[in-house]
Amino acid sequence: MSTKEQRRLLKAFWQEVDRVEALRQRILIEDANSNRRAAYFCMHGVWPPRPLLPDLPEIPPQCIDMTCGGKGRRSGEPCKSREIFRNGRCKWHGGASTGPKTKEGSERSRTNLRRGSKL
Ligand SMILES: [Zn+2]
Repeated sequence: MSTKEQRRLLKAFWQEVDRVEALRQRILIEDANSNRRAAYFCMHGVWPPRPLLPDLPEIPPQCIDMTCGGKGRRSGEPCKSREIFRNGRCKWHGGASTGPKTKEGSERSRTNLRRGSKL
């Protein structure tokens, strides 16, 4: 299996994790906000069982032993690190920051500038 396919699988896996996680959160919030639990408690004297949550997906077996694969700047060899983040790269090869995304973020980054530097 090529590393390109592995990366595609890993990306799909994390997208699925995000989707299921959002679903789980929604179910939990709905359950906490509904009066059903209190009504059940009044009726039976015990709290109802927690709602069933969908299981998080399993990591694809092809991606278990994935390496970072980023290009080493000195050696030119692909990186062999197995400690990868969800973007499929290690801590050295994640890529440069693309800067603040929100208005608040860019405000905050501006206040972090040292005094006297160019604004
Ligand atoms: Zn790397």
